[in-house]
Order: sequence, then structure tokens, then C-alpha cells
Amino acid sequence: MIGKTIYADGRNYLCDDCNRLEKFQSIEAARAAGWAIARNRKNCYCPACAPARRNVGKAWGGVRTLVK
Ligand SMILES: [Zn+2]
Repeated sequence: MIGKTIYADGRNYLCDDCNRLEKFQSIEAARAAGWAIARNRKNCYCPACAPARRNVGKAWGGVRTLVK
């Protein structure tokens, strides 16, 4: 999930699969780093988990249509 709290150096992006946590200044920055961000901007997946999520379709809210 994407944290709601905005820190001086960005927001927390927590992978919904493996709980990997990173901080990014923006969704664009997260995507540039390989993260997959859902259209609702609540769910996100780290680069390690994103490829699997991009191909599973509607079961995961259509995440695959939301990346890059
Ligand atoms: Zn992950």
C-alpha cells in the first residue's frame, strides 16, 4: 500500500506482496524504480512482485493495466 503520510523525503510504499518498504517522492518516481501502482493509488507492488501482478488481471483489480 501507499502510505498516506507525506514525509519530507516522500511517502512510504509498502509492497502488498512481500512487505518490502521504500520511500518515493511521487508515484512517478516509484514507477521509474520498477514499482507497480494500482489505479486506486492504494495498492502497490515492488519490482520483484510487480511482474506477477501485471499478468493476473481482474482478480487483482486490473493492476496490469495500471503500470507504465
Ligand atoms: Zn514485493
